[in-house]
Amino acid sequence: MALSHSIYDSPVFLQACHQFDAAADIIGMDAGVRERAKYPRRTLIVTLPVRMDSGKVETFEGYRVQHNISTGPAKGGIRFHHDVTLGEVAALAMWMSWKCSLVGLPFGGAKGGVVVNARDMSNGELERLSRRYMQEIATFIGPHLDIPAPDVGTNEQVMAWMMDTYSNHVGHFDPGVITGKPVALGGSLGRKEATGEGVAWFTKAYLADMGLKTSDSTVVIQGIGNVGSETALALTAAGAKIVGISDFTGGITNPKGINIPDALAYIAKNRSLQGFTGGESLTNDQLLELPCTVLIPAALERVITEQNAGKLKCRLLAEGANGPTTNEADRILAQRGDIELIPDVLCNSGGVIVSYFEWLQNQSAYYWTKEEVFDKLHKMLAKAKASVDETKAKYQCSRRTAALVLGISRVAEAKAKRGLFP
Ligand code: NAD
Repeated sequence: MALSHSIYDSPVFLQACHQFDAAADIIGMDAGVRERAKYPRRTLIVTLPVRMDSGKVETFEGYRVQHNISTGPAKGGIRFHHDVTLGEVAALAMWMSWKCSLVGLPFGGAKGGVVVNARDMSNGELERLSRRYMQEIATFIGPHLDIPAPDVGTNEQVMAWMMDTYSNHVGHFDPGVITGKPVALGGSLGRKEATGEGVAWFTKAYLADMGLKTSDSTVVIQGIGNVGSETALALTAAGAKIVGISDFTGGITNPKGINIPDALAYIAKNRSLQGFTGGESLTNDQLLELPCTVLIPAALERVITEQNAGKLKCRLLAEGANGPTTNEADRILAQRGDIELIPDVLCNSGGVIVSYFEWLQNQSAYYWTKEEVFDKLHKMLAKAKASVDETKAKYQCSRRTAALVLGISRVAEAKAKRGLFP
């Protein structure tokens, strides 16, 4: 397939392909398997007419991309954002495949998205859009086919509307179709915290490997949404000082430490960080270059670039977001050699692990305590970390490539053993 003529031809999809090729080279992956493993298995594009509060009908475009279904039902979140593109969703779906495989989940990879600025919508408009999107993808997904979850711009309430729409479609309560639901509707205890809990767990573990104490560390977080806020709370509880946070409106910094509960209460009330007085204002670009022990991008892709990679002043870069570091920035960071990197597919895997636990609990209709959830989560994170570090040492490659070697190897083996169809 010629990349230059592909609908997936976007910088972020090419970024994911480049990362994939580096890992595929190491394991000497056959060219035929490579092409199959790279491109999405199936893509659905939907048109979503929604009645707005004004009485007018607005039409939105949505996607669902199933990258890999060779190792189980596809799994991946749904993003509502005005900049969503098909190429971006395809890249995010590919990363889901490698992530699920790396941590040993019985899932393939998928992602969904709707091109919309959900922040400007009323609650009623958001509900109608969420339900319409689910209505359009309902025949494409299911608890044994493809299981969505929250991502940027979607949350527990959106998952509840989507689960209800799907359940009405099939004629019975079917909570296993989607994860990240409210606990009252079959959600798992600990799912809301899971991604941030995982990012914080890896941060603490790698700081310890570097001989640094979490309680002596300063942390900067770009994107104080679901992942960023839960990471901030977990690292604050471990004694770290959060010296910078941001959202889409910009950031704040406070060398004495930002009061995270106060900042989150402010955001809940005002719907953004703008105007919060617990620190000095700065731009998102400036935030990324603040001196700190740990820098955690937890917003969107491609924010650590050729322009700023040489200027980062952290010791550890923990990728809470998917795809925050461009290929050029990876190269600069490798040349610098003074920053440890926890790659996205490892660093934010706590979210999909607890989504898997939620799906398991839905299958058996038997629910676990939060302690059980976190205990099982930490064991899986520890196993994944050990495998990645062992693979990094074995191949003398970057931690990102080591994680991807593990992720793609299992998918490639499953494809080779099953034959051409899956
Ligand atoms: P979210 O919508 O809850 O939060 C996103 C945050 O980023 C918000 O604070 C938003 O204001 C901010 N933001 C948006 N545009 C920005 C910009 N240009 N500059 C700075 N900040 C900006 O989303 P989330 O669920 O926390 O997801 C964040 C990242 O983590 C994404 O890359 C997502 O794919 C990844 N991720 C999420 C989960 C999950 O469980 N939610 C799991 C794994 C990975």
